[in-house]
Amino acid sequence: MTERPPPPFAVFDGLPPKDTRHERLHKSKPPSLVRCRRCAGGSIVTVRMGMTYNPKGVPVGGVKALVCAICLARGDHVLI
Ligand SMILES: [Zn+2]
Repeated sequence: MTERPPPPFAVFDGLPPKDTRHERLHKSKPPSLVRCRRCAGGSIVTVRMGMTYNPKGVPVGGVKALVCAICLARGDHVLI
């Protein structure tokens, strides 16, 4: 009679240990679609606010922000 290999699964006795608060906070989340919290639209544009001209006349600096394109077309500036 030939020896059979052990089964490819393991039997656990009881529940697995719970994650700590740190593990729960830093556990990776599945990717999800970015949506506007006001209109639930998925069209997002990147804007730069507070840019200045350098001596050569090129706009530099500023702060990047994500803005809902649908709300922007309506005249609202909703940051994502
Ligand atoms: Zn919106």
